[in-house]
Amino acid sequence: RSVETLLHELVRDIPDWPEPGVTFRDITPLLADAEALQAVVDALTELGRSLAGGPIDRVLGIEARGFILAAPVALALGAGFVPVRKAGKLPGPTYAVSYALEYGEATLEMHRDALAPGDRALVIDDVLATGGTVAATARLVGECGATHVGTAVLLELEALHGRDRLAGMPVGALRRL
Ligand code: 5GP
Repeated sequence: RSVETLLHELVRDIPDWPEPGVTFRDITPLLADAEALQAVVDALTELGRSLAGGPIDRVLGIEARGFILAAPVALALGAGFVPVRKAGKLPGPTYAVSYALEYGEATLEMHRDALAPGDRALVIDDVLATGGTVAATARLVGECGATHVGTAVLLELEALHGRDRLAGMPVGALRRL
């Protein structure tokens, strides 16, 4: 089965979650399938490589589903792994970026010493929705003086126009909905 087919078959829609009117794309059936897990890690690795078009020093995973995918991609690329976490979770000195959600605000943090100036960082997450999360992560990379060489995700929800917010950034998805 192709990656496209696996994503179609194994990502399920959960209506009205986490709140009424929202349809959540649940990737846990995909993660639970050995063939699919291997296939999407391989495909994200290739997508990341092509977006970066050069060396990749670190792979950033965004809490929490991004962690699951980013660590095996980092291993496959021979790169290190860096967690991008929600506010208050990282123990050392951090950079923090806040951004607007549909209702309220969210903050993401990364350790200040996670990237050195000039490092080339690839970002991995499961879903690109409004693009706020990826935009904030790219800003964290910039705070370190490092370069965001690309973001690779499993699914892009095109109706939410995340790409408009990420103008000029190299962003790729294995499947667009
Ligand atoms: P954005 O900031 O682009 O609006 O939202 C993307 C972030 O929210 C990602 O970190 C992603 O994990 C999460 N997210 C938003 N909608 C969904 C969804 O339908 N399914 C999953 N699995 N994650 C989602």
